[in-house]
Amino acid sequence: MSTPTTLYVDGTWQGAAAGGTREIRCPADGSLVAEVSEATAADTERAIRAARRAFDAGPWRETTAPERGELLQRVADLLTERAEDFALAESRDTGKRLVESRIDMDDCIACFRWYAKLAGADAGRIVDAGSPDVLSRVVHEPVGVCGLISPWNYPLLQAVWKVAPCLAAGNTFVLKPSELTPHTAVLLMEVLSDAGVPAGVANLVLGAGPEAGAPLSSHPDVDLVSFTGGLATGRIIAASASATVKKVALELGGKNPNVIFADADFDAAVDNALNGAFVHSGQVCSAGARLIVEESIHDRFVDELVRRAREIRLGGPFDDAAETGPLISAAHRDKVTAYVAKAVEEGAVVRCGGEWGTGELEQGFYYLPTVLDGVRRGSSAVVDEAFGPVVTVETFRSEEEAVEIANDTIYGLAGAVWTQDAGKAQRVANGLRHGTIWINDYHPYLPQAEWGGYGQSGFGRELGLAGLAEYQESKHIYQNLRPAVTGWFGGTDD
Ligand code: NAD
Repeated sequence: MSTPTTLYVDGTWQGAAAGGTREIRCPADGSLVAEVSEATAADTERAIRAARRAFDAGPWRETTAPERGELLQRVADLLTERAEDFALAESRDTGKRLVESRIDMDDCIACFRWYAKLAGADAGRIVDAGSPDVLSRVVHEPVGVCGLISPWNYPLLQAVWKVAPCLAAGNTFVLKPSELTPHTAVLLMEVLSDAGVPAGVANLVLGAGPEAGAPLSSHPDVDLVSFTGGLATGRIIAASASATVKKVALELGGKNPNVIFADADFDAAVDNALNGAFVHSGQVCSAGARLIVEESIHDRFVDELVRRAREIRLGGPFDDAAETGPLISAAHRDKVTAYVAKAVEEGAVVRCGGEWGTGELEQGFYYLPTVLDGVRRGSSAVVDEAFGPVVTVETFRSEEEAVEIANDTIYGLAGAVWTQDAGKAQRVANGLRHGTIWINDYHPYLPQAEWGGYGQSGFGRELGLAGLAEYQESKHIYQNLRPAVTGWFGGTDD
């Protein structure tokens, strides 16, 4: 097998300088997907230098915002043409169902189109300086070189949420996707190049976080680091970035409450509770992992939830009958296994699941959809992110208690409320300290609306208008149209 050249630096495909490689395996059956280059910090430094040069002196600096908008439209067109290649690659790397990878592609394309439209939409503003002799305006400029670090659960989508606004604003970047799921990032670089993104503007390094990713938060030539991933890594990145006072955006984990009132549409609430908790085997930052159910319907609700959870069919990405897939790796399944074992030690009752997949599923890293009832407030089951197909059930008796339990977390990414009482829905939505709230739904999001966390789910926002602002500096330009001696230091005296 020839040495892979899957790093994209300064407009050329290259191997890692130290010759490192990594095997990527499909989590559904352990089959070899491909071998890719494994960068070291030296490769990342080379990519940062290329991004710096392209930002400081290249033709990219001369592009206008509307031109960048047109370029993003071309990217969206090319992604549309190649959507199936991307979806296949995403499913092989992640093990997620092909139908889900196709939906991810639609979302990626929509994100590029949203930022294409937004790129030239805000030319800044004139500010009233209170004097006819002053022209004062506020303009937006790119931040500079951006380090973009993304996770494995939605590999392309999480990268695109960063890449699209980053380019729209006129920055250059180095992208470091998860070492477990690199392929769609490789394809994205091909598309960016075909669309006409100049050499050095978009760079890609593949490899382990502490080696290939770390320079993106520590290097003085990086101006901004945008990270999506786990809380522990986010803390390391924020600390490292502080030494050079970079702009930092962190999209971290969640422990998201799904509050069900007794007056909710019962069937829709159960169905969406399953969707919230078990889509992509719960490997979703906004997964509805904490069901908070009004006490009067607890037994009926949990019985139906468990009945349906037991029927969920697990399978590989190309199994049309599968409803959800494997976990990303053996190591991650071990973490989920340990999380459930600790929950049980602390008194949780496993109503279904709590086991690995058997039979044909033994080839992959499958974990059965799991419902944990009888969990206590403050226990690890309701505090820690499982990031797997596990949902806990707590109960409440009043609206106030529901809100209090739902907010009892260090995280604050997303939450949902189910009730047919519109006033109650709004009161609870207002009370929840989370970045996205769904009423009588679970999981939809819009590129036009901000996404991000309260508390230790991070800071900064992706998507929406704020998602572009993350990648912009604001500059105030104040022009005195009638310069005169000020007199402050006596200059008016003859
Ligand atoms: P992770 O923190 O292990 O890794 C994320 C990325 O950071 C990977 O690319 C990894 O290589 C890199 N990394 C690791 N150590 C690094 C270091 N020292 N310096 C630089 N980069 C480093 O997270 P993960 O396991 O890939 O993803 C799962 C987590 O991501 C979950 O906690 C999930 O909730 C979170 N997530 C959040 C959102 C959101 O929008 N808030 C979206 C998706 C995932």
